[in-house]
Amino acid sequence: MKTIVVTGVSRGLGLSICRRLAADGFKVIGLSRSLSAEYRTLVGCRPEQVVFRKCDVSDLGRIPDLIREISRTEGPIFGLVNNAGIGLDGVLATMHQSEIEAVVRTNLLAPIVVTKYISRAMLSHGEGRIVNISSIIASTGFHGLSVYAATKAGLEGFTRSLSRELGKMGITVNCVAPGYMETEMTKGLGGDKLQMVRRRAPLGLPLPKDAAGAVAYLLGPDGARITGTVITVDGGSTA
Ligand code: NDP
Repeated sequence: MKTIVVTGVSRGLGLSICRRLAADGFKVIGLSRSLSAEYRTLVGCRPEQVVFRKCDVSDLGRIPDLIREISRTEGPIFGLVNNAGIGLDGVLATMHQSEIEAVVRTNLLAPIVVTKYISRAMLSHGEGRIVNISSIIASTGFHGLSVYAATKAGLEGFTRSLSRELGKMGITVNCVAPGYMETEMTKGLGGDKLQMVRRRAPLGLPLPKDAAGAVAYLLGPDGARITGTVITVDGGSTA
């Protein structure tokens, strides 16, 4: 059974990814700051297959030991999904410095550092798949999300260059860029703004399980020759 590490699994897209990967027969190591009732249920249904490790990915200094410990206890890591993210919004001019730092640390620095240590382990096995969760905001822009957009655009640039670095060693690196999905992160968006976002998607807004399907594709057998790209899952919003 191939092992995939997924960050940010307590709810939303990360939880959906774990459910899908477990159903596809992967072993899933989920990392989050909290263990939710939903993730606990998933562990309960598949105790041999789904594992939880409490982890704050923004605590960068703890990442090397954690990855070493996971490799030691769970065996070789085949895949990594950098999904954990925060979506603090605000007009840049009034955003507190600590909020800016928190978004950059969680959404950009943490995935880079987690990828550094996991790709090292993948290099010694000559295979691996890395999927970074971006957002259509990386390329479209959205009022009040400039810092968030910067982190997602950074993640896409990181993905492209790293795919060149790791491709020869049998490791793929890609992004999945979802459009607006109804999760805890977006619960603040409502009213006219939400209606406008809805109107833009000819197929309707994607669900977390739609984006999870794209992640599963990149991690599965059909994703073996795909690297350095972004798969957009947005119901057609950006077409
Ligand atoms: P949620 O807020 O619903 O979930 C975020 C998850 O990340 C939670 O499980 C949270 O768990 C975890 N998390 C947050 N901070 C940390 C941290 N420091 N360490 C470990 N885990 C952390 O958001 P979504 O499911 O909507 O978002 C998932 C990803 O999808 C994000 O990268 C987001 O940017 C991206 N995305 C979302 C879109 C949307 O419309 N919802 C659109 C495009 C992209 P806990 O609090 O327990 O740590």
